[in-house]
Amino acid sequence: MGKYYDVIIVGGGPAGLSAAYSASKNGAHEILILERDKEVGGILQQCIHNGFGLHHFKEELTGPGYAQRCWELVKDDANVEVMTDTMVLEVRENKSVIAVNPKHGLMELKSKTVILTMGCRERTRGAIRTPGYRPAGVYTAGAAQRMVNIEGYLPGKKIVILGSGDIGLIMARRMTLEGCEVKAVLEICPYSNGLTRNLVQCLDDYGIPLYLSTTITDLKGKGRLDGITAAKVDEHMKPVPGTEFDIDCDTLLLSVGLIPENELSRGLGIELHPLTNGPIVDQHRETSVPGIFAAGNVVHVHDLVDFVSEEAEIAGKYAALTAAKTAAGQMDIPAEDIIIEPGNGIRTCVPQHIAKTANGESVRLFMRVRKPMRNVTLEISNQGEVILSKRLLVAKPSEMIAVDLPADKEQALKDKLTIAIREEA
Ligand SMILES: Cc1cc2nc3c(=O)[nH]c(=O)nc-3n(C[C@H](O)[C@H](O)[C@H](O)COP(=O)(O)OP(=O)(O)OC[C@H]3O[C@@H](n4cnc5c(N)ncnc54)[C@H](O)[C@@H]3O)c2cc1C
Repeated sequence: MGKYYDVIIVGGGPAGLSAAYSASKNGAHEILILERDKEVGGILQQCIHNGFGLHHFKEELTGPGYAQRCWELVKDDANVEVMTDTMVLEVRENKSVIAVNPKHGLMELKSKTVILTMGCRERTRGAIRTPGYRPAGVYTAGAAQRMVNIEGYLPGKKIVILGSGDIGLIMARRMTLEGCEVKAVLEICPYSNGLTRNLVQCLDDYGIPLYLSTTITDLKGKGRLDGITAAKVDEHMKPVPGTEFDIDCDTLLLSVGLIPENELSRGLGIELHPLTNGPIVDQHRETSVPGIFAAGNVVHVHDLVDFVSEEAEIAGKYAALTAAKTAAGQMDIPAEDIIIEPGNGIRTCVPQHIAKTANGESVRLFMRVRKPMRNVTLEISNQGEVILSKRLLVAKPSEMIAVDLPADKEQALKDKLTIAIREEA
């Protein structure tokens, strides 16, 4: 294992594969993807529904179809090596990667740059502290998705789903199509956290009721779940006494959020953002540790995988350019930084800062709003002056907003950029 890689990529999901494709296209020769699973493709392998790829491949694909497209871009590329069944245990500041697999045992792999694309995992019952017994029949929606779509088992027959994010909505439809009775989807917020198209196509089309401002206050059944108690919540998300109602069910699926997988990033001392739970990155997706890049769901949870690929291609390109500079013994002159500050109504923005370089490229900003709004104006200001504004009919926390900052505007930036959103009267 004496190779000195240009780019090592941790995780072979759509982000990892897209990053490898772009790194190769931008001049990197020794690229290695390390994937802990038996095959590449990431979580999309279990997402057998359609709706993927409309932006990126201009075609409607299933999850495995999208993953296959990403794989086809690199599978015959002599610059890209893939090691599956390989768990990365540590990434070091000097860009060496400690990994283990059954074939080679423990390895120390050396590289000029590293791209982190480890994706995210689901929050579990422990994370939301649901009271009650600990009966069988409680699964995360993703675990049930894998069980049904890959392993061919049904987790139960009478289903309640907690959480109306996209995975919960998709599973409501999936379980109905498998012959189960989906009794209800419960959502603690006063609005759904899924894409509008999923609300219509997964709940409305099948007559599945959605209870907003509602949570679970009790799980019933000792051996196996035999029902849940739900209640309305107040504006502080606390159950309102007297509003309880029971639903008879044998299975509860939890779709209560995703957490970016950042144990490796933390071990490396990368600065993480408290709201996205992912690394703080600049527009090239370089983290606070020079030469270490990150992309995809490990940076922030995306609602569309198409944007994951787009982001990963940026990381791949700049990792390749950094590797080339390292090989030539060139030092990067630290760039002047513009901090991006989420202002009124904006919860998060990625990237969190822009390194001012003279590469004449526009910068795409991805943001999420704090609450649903209608008829809004989004304004980007630099030193009090509005440099870009955009009208939107609807803005929802579940739908990421993408805005392009043209290169000429980027060049003129000073110190700090503020993004705010306001409802028109
Ligand atoms: C259950 C679930 C269902 C989803 N359904 C949809 C959907 O229907 N539509 C949609 O657009 N998005 C969906 N998503 C979001 C989806 O994760 C993203 O769209 C996309 O797959 C993210 O790509 P990624 O490459 O960043 O992460 P992933 O696809 O999660 O890939 C990350 C990869 O990194 C590997 N990895 C992690 N840690 C290590 C390590 N230490 N060593 C080696 N390998 C490692 C993992 O095994 C995995 O293959 C879903 C997410 C989840 C969790």
